[in-house]
Amino acid sequence: MTSAGPVSPTGSADLFARAQRVTPGGVNSPVRAFNAVGGTPRFIRSARGAWLTDVDGNDYVDLICSWGPMLLGHAHPQVQEAVTEAVSRGTSYGTPTVPEVELAEEIVTRTPIEKVRFVSSGTEATMSAIRLARGFTGRDTIVKFAGCYHGHVDSLLAQAGSGLATHAVTSTPGVPEAFVAETLVIPYNDPQALAAVFAEHGHKIAALITEAAPGNMGVVPPLPGFNKLLADTCREHGALFISDEVMTGFRASRQGQWGLDGAHEGWRPDLITFGKVMGGGFPAAAFGGRADVMSRLSPEGPVYQAGTLSGNPIATTAGLATLRLATDEVYDHITAAGETIKAAVTETFTAAGLPHRIQATGTMFSVFFRDGEVRNFDDANAQSLPAYTAFFHSMLDAGVYLPPSAYETWFLSGAHDDRAIQTVLDALPAAARAAAAA
Ligand code: PMP
Repeated sequence: MTSAGPVSPTGSADLFARAQRVTPGGVNSPVRAFNAVGGTPRFIRSARGAWLTDVDGNDYVDLICSWGPMLLGHAHPQVQEAVTEAVSRGTSYGTPTVPEVELAEEIVTRTPIEKVRFVSSGTEATMSAIRLARGFTGRDTIVKFAGCYHGHVDSLLAQAGSGLATHAVTSTPGVPEAFVAETLVIPYNDPQALAAVFAEHGHKIAALITEAAPGNMGVVPPLPGFNKLLADTCREHGALFISDEVMTGFRASRQGQWGLDGAHEGWRPDLITFGKVMGGGFPAAAFGGRADVMSRLSPEGPVYQAGTLSGNPIATTAGLATLRLATDEVYDHITAAGETIKAAVTETFTAAGLPHRIQATGTMFSVFFRDGEVRNFDDANAQSLPAYTAFFHSMLDAGVYLPPSAYETWFLSGAHDDRAIQTVLDALPAAARAAAAA
């Protein structure tokens, strides 16, 4: 039996101090540092199933799941077996290999894309998709939505300028204004803003990129027909529609977000980006789409793109094992576990008088600390961050590791069993009261 978080995290605190001396902020990806919620990030020593164990021996139910990838839970025996066997044959050859062909076939079979190219991160996938769209169309302008995150691609680290349909400004130092001069940022779920931006700039737009269903401002599902409207608008104007399924792919459903809308509404994105689940916990990502567009890519076409570790045999073996094990039963299990947690959130938050809104797409959901529908980034920003901070720490103390930011999806896995779910349910009432008092 695991005990939930009773030991003071002195080991984590010591490691965090050491890490801060040699690494900016002590972490290798900012949100891990707890900057938004304060406190000491836990240094995790091992993970199994639904549980993380920190260096002090505390166990936590994992509601981050490595920010999405661990669809089957940690250390899944069959994934481990496949990876161990692959490692025994060497780890990287810099030549074509068997598992990358098999993973490409699996992805092409499951999704509406014809050809796929592997890369090592979601950032690389979106960066490459945008380069390809520009190369294919011979146009430069990109449209993105406020609150959608596509990795740290220079041209996408952009925020809206002073008015609608004006060119963007950078959202971080280090990106020259010129690099976002061809990026337009509009509000999500807003058909008028979409029409306005294409009316003014349509002939220059190479591509519109969107999260297939945003999960990086909390979960904000596309309004019914919104993704179809994006696809249709792009086609009318000769622009490519890039659906970023790095988070939703093989996660929101077996066929990602497209399986929840495009498959029924009868449209396909020109390009899709994938990451997270398809790497089975290893650094692997991909972009793919229409054969005529993908054929523009080097060495078949002139648009350059490459990678030393792209299609790495260990990563593609892990991804292939994960996708093959991700049966309908796994998605049904995650759905059911999510329903139980959502119902308990509703009950305990209501009892505590805590404003809240739960939003979901397929198996993905998040909780906003405000009332009322959240349709876009402005809506997502109008939530109580102090309430989330109090909630987060109360849950952590009770042995539940939530994302250390109010703007994130809560991820579950096929390994979140009754004991893990019960630990979450037991922690909720006190956390809801702490949040209400914040
Ligand atoms: N696109 C989306 C939708 C994402 O959620 C992320 C990462 N959270 C990325 C792209 C970037 O992926 P990576 O962190 O692997 O570069």
